[in-house]
Amino acid sequence: MEAEAIVLDTTEHGESDLIITFFSQKTGRLSAIAKGAKRSKKRFVNKLEIFTFLQISYEQKNNRSLAFLNEAELHNAFPNLRTHFEQYFAASIVREFLLLGIKDSEPEEKIFRLSLWALHNLNKGFPPKPILALFLIHYFGHIGYRPDLESCGFCENRISKRMRYSFDSASGRLVCGSCSGYKRYGMELSHGTIKLLHTAQNLPLERLHRVKATGPILKEALTLLHNFGRQIFQRDIVSWRLLHHSYPGKRENKPG
Ligand SMILES: [Zn+2]
Repeated sequence: MEAEAIVLDTTEHGESDLIITFFSQKTGRLSAIAKGAKRSKKRFVNKLEIFTFLQISYEQKNNRSLAFLNEAELHNAFPNLRTHFEQYFAASIVREFLLLGIKDSEPEEKIFRLSLWALHNLNKGFPPKPILALFLIHYFGHIGYRPDLESCGFCENRISKRMRYSFDSASGRLVCGSCSGYKRYGMELSHGTIKLLHTAQNLPLERLHRVKATGPILKEALTLLHNFGRQIFQRDIVSWRLLHHSYPGKRENKPG
């Protein structure tokens, strides 16, 4: 079998083998053993690295069993992700969300394209935080958690400039000021953030890079996406910590 695949994880197996977790375009999450990959590096040299985009050839008895990796051809190693901290941290968060959200033997064509879009743009040196925010708002939609950013999730009234809103991560809904009353629901959102996420949500991948996100709006959007992601998967997003350390003493970086 042949497939395009992104390397999400590698573990050593015995003295000479590696077990690779791929995100395969055809089958979603795929685990494959690369025999001798540790000892003789010739066949897989520099290819079985995290984030690498490959064309793989493999054998698999059934959908659930461990595949046997025959060959791997390099499409893109995304080398800049390995040498630039900020790009690396954002790519690591993308990777962590993929490991949490993609399933065995389920084709996820849209998520696959979205992931390549994120890795390509990070590799090209686009500011990583906006790329991450745009990736996440689309990713959550693809896995069935598309927040409704057009109306209050409780009274269903359309968003109005005169109303204040917050986002309730637990239900993935916007709450307007009259519905929340004295009760606090999650984090308060500015209209700029709602607009940014709503615009991004509705843009196709080819036009997504045109969305400009900076400053407090970007910060707020990322906080929302982080909280919502933790809520969806009911766990901490370990690599998010790296992002906070990625700009020591600096303000948000401005896109070039
Ligand atoms: Zn309401």
